[in-house]
Amino acid sequence: MKCPVCEKGTRSKVDDILYELEGNNLIISGERCNHCGEEYIDEQELQRIAAIGRKLGIWGKPFKLHRKLSKSGRGTVLRIPTDIEKNLKLKGNEEVAISKVGDKKILIEIENGHA
Ligand SMILES: [Zn+2]
Repeated sequence: MKCPVCEKGTRSKVDDILYELEGNNLIISGERCNHCGEEYIDEQELQRIAAIGRKLGIWGKPFKLHRKLSKSGRGTVLRIPTDIEKNLKLKGNEEVAISKVGDKKILIEIENGHA
């Protein structure tokens, strides 16, 4: 299956996707692009994570997905993980406010385009 993100790589089944749930590292299965490394989590696995989250009483809090920054001609690029994009219904033309929080955090707030 072709990767819709980079349109160059192929998605293949993996079972070593690291998903961080409030400090708990879950290893789950899904697909990963062999070109850009984008990870696609199975719907079943997402439901399993949601169930774990509900059990821990933390469902609704942000999940962490690990991503590498990349360089483009004009600066540093961060790709928003697909499930966050879907969850927030991002169209890709929203304006965002980016602030530095402490020494190691960046906060990205969506300012418009999100009805
Ligand atoms: Zn890709």
